[in-house]
Amino acid sequence: MDVIVLGGGLMGTASAYFLGRRGARVTLIERNRIGTGATIASFGNIRRTGRHLAQLPLAHRSLRLWGEAEKMLGRDVEFRATGHIRLIFDEGSLADMRTYAEAARLWGLELDELGPREIRVRFPGLGPEAIAASFSPHDGSGNPRLIAPAFAEAARKLGAEIIEDAQIETIGHAGSGFVVATSKGAFAAECLLNAAGAWGARIAAGFGEEVPLDARGPQMGVTEPLPHRILPVVGIWTRDKDYGAYLRQVERGNIVFGGAAERVSVDLDPGHATADPIRLPVQLRAVARLLPAIARVAVIRTWSGCEGYVRDMLPVMGSSATTPGLFHAIGFCGHGFQLGPGVGDVMAELIMTDRCETPLEDFRIDRFSRAA
Ligand SMILES: Cc1cc2nc3c(=O)[nH]c(=O)nc-3n(C[C@H](O)[C@H](O)[C@H](O)COP(=O)(O)OP(=O)(O)OC[C@H]3O[C@@H](n4cnc5c(N)ncnc54)[C@H](O)[C@@H]3O)c2cc1C
Repeated sequence: MDVIVLGGGLMGTASAYFLGRRGARVTLIERNRIGTGATIASFGNIRRTGRHLAQLPLAHRSLRLWGEAEKMLGRDVEFRATGHIRLIFDEGSLADMRTYAEAARLWGLELDELGPREIRVRFPGLGPEAIAASFSPHDGSGNPRLIAPAFAEAARKLGAEIIEDAQIETIGHAGSGFVVATSKGAFAAECLLNAAGAWGARIAAGFGEEVPLDARGPQMGVTEPLPHRILPVVGIWTRDKDYGAYLRQVERGNIVFGGAAERVSVDLDPGHATADPIRLPVQLRAVARLLPAIARVAVIRTWSGCEGYVRDMLPVMGSSATTPGLFHAIGFCGHGFQLGPGVGDVMAELIMTDRCETPLEDFRIDRFSRAA
């Protein structure tokens, strides 16, 4: 089977790789360079805690693949299963965590509850005022700069054609399939996978499928390097979004952080999300609650990225409801990095076998029109 994949972020490149493994002839078309959309901007959190429950089967499948990534792709993409701790500072948030943990257990996610003493002994320097925490030992982080190029390269080795810097002129559909005309030539295939991230709603609209998607930019920052001490990814359970920060320390010592600040609207043309220095103090105040030592280090860079946020904060994944042979994997609402390898595997399974072991019902593209 021939498949055109539109978009060379994590979702498009992972799909190209897994499609190749299942014997598809793949052409991946990226209008910029591989991995330079939302993927490269990611914080790199490979976290299952706090996910919508119906997303957990996909998240588990993806975590297994992150664990195999180095062997599978022949390259260290810096996946480290360091664990994911979420600190708790008030009783209401403790109750929220326990409710979530109980429900998530039924979906195969085990969260340990840590008391204040255990936090101090196991993770010195974190959240001195925390009253408890959840800990997910098998989660961790990966390197957002490495993963999409690694999938693209592995897909290429399986025979995929990877085309970068191609401006899309038209996307046509006739009885036998799709023709995509670009500045680098025209390409035809029986199937088309829309993996164009925040821009993917426009492609869906071209086939009469409306997705209520906003392009927004979450803001990230990184400090100068410090001696490496903080192993897990650190987050928080809180109802107060001004304190909803997270951080991790990379092995080179820098502390990467995000959250707390509002995500700003991004214009899809050209789709460059920029960090706003005014929002930095709000973020740092929230990060300091998790790691007071942040107050003594310099922030050396801030950035943002253009991500697609769907109204119900769930992605759109699966077959088109209007056009046979068309598939979508878009709108990952700021949490697609963890899901990426699983999304690629699932989309390849669906396209090649017309079925999928992992439930995708909640992510159907026609859920909005059906609800209306
Ligand atoms: C700042 C930030 C931090 C994040 N942190 C995390 C995190 O810690 N953990 C987590 O799980 N998730 C995180 N995310 C979310 C995660 O990064 C994204 O969900 C994921 O990378 C989306 O991948 P994608 O392939 O769908 O999109 P993208 O990486 O944006 O790729 C889409 C690609 O499609 C291309 N394109 C667009 N239109 C066309 C077209 N017409 N034809 C061809 N190509 C086209 C674009 O150029 C782009 O390269 C974060 C996102 C941001 C922005």
